Amino acid sequence: DTDRLLASARKPEDIDAALRPKSLDEFVGQKAARGNLRVFIAAAKARGDALDHVLLFGPPGLGKTTLAQIVAREMGVGFRATSGPVIAKSGDLAALLTNLEDGDVLFIDEIHRLAPAVEEVLYPAMEDRALDLMIGEGPSARSVRIDLPRFTLVGATTRQGLLTTPLRDRFGIPIRLQFYTVDELQHVVRRAAGLLHLEIADDGAHEIAKRSRGTPRIAGRLLRRVRDFANVAGEETVHADVADKALNRLEVDHLGLDAMDRRYLRMIADIYKGGPVGVETLAAGLSEPRDTIEEVIEPYLIQLGLIARTARGRCLNGLGWKHLGLDPPSNGQD
Ligand code: ADP
Repeated sequence: DTDRLLASARKPEDIDAALRPKSLDEFVGQKAARGNLRVFIAAAKARGDALDHVLLFGPPGLGKTTLAQIVAREMGVGFRATSGPVIAKSGDLAALLTNLEDGDVLFIDEIHRLAPAVEEVLYPAMEDRALDLMIGEGPSARSVRIDLPRFTLVGATTRQGLLTTPLRDRFGIPIRLQFYTVDELQHVVRRAAGLLHLEIADDGAHEIAKRSRGTPRIAGRLLRRVRDFANVAGEETVHADVADKALNRLEVDHLGLDAMDRRYLRMIADIYKGGPVGVETLAAGLSEPRDTIEEVIEPYLIQLGLIARTARGRCLNGLGWKHLGLDPPSNGQD
């Protein structure tokens, strides 16, 4: 009965499962990560061993699930996916692990959200390919060790620092995924357009890429919406002007920021005079969970240099003021 655990709460974006690259060669960008994985996969295969456990970390939508699937495919092994919050009890994890086939990749999304008791089952499983089970209760209870098949755990999380140290230490291959460049995203957009049988001009692909927040998932989503606008407007080919009109209607600005990003920036500017302001205060003011602020909204704004995380809180940088079309308050005036 591990189906319940495996089906897991798949993200709605999985409607574009068809867009997922299927091999390391098809996977766009993340050059360092791809190069390293290629070496480790080739070496593991040459030794006839399972690949060491892999930890993928980075903001949502950068390709962690996709890479995990690719690892399984390139290793020529089975793929099973679940997620941290779905595994409620240690028995659930034990069931998943004992049902693996030799060499399988077990993908655990949001691995930082595993319950502590579940996480403890994972330690011997990762280290010794063994499961320590308690049999019986009270004074007659004893622990038995069960051997597990060889497997590769691929864990995904938004930030490496969210994991406990013992868990983090058990991953032999930690990989950080970076935001994609505009060129890389343009490639992603063209590839996706091809799969959707949509004609797109270079300037159209560039416009979407530029406004995708460095994130392939967003590029795919924006492409679909732009396609809708182009269809309705009777445009056969997506050019920059149609893309621009559609993206403006979707309130995605020229840096790719959406309404939520702008609300965040405006709150620091209007209410806190540019900061510093604590993340909890912002979370309360925006009615968004702190996690969303820290894992989804802020990384890209920091990457663009619009805000800074300081010890005393978040501050709006000069570029942030400029993007809002506002002047920073002059120093020492308030
Ligand atoms: P994550 O698990 O990090 O949230 P996913 O692996 O689910 O991200 O990727 C989100 C979507 O973006 C997928 O549907 C996939 O089609 C696309 N995608 C991600 N990375 C790439 C890439 N490097 N090249 C092309 N498409 C990608």
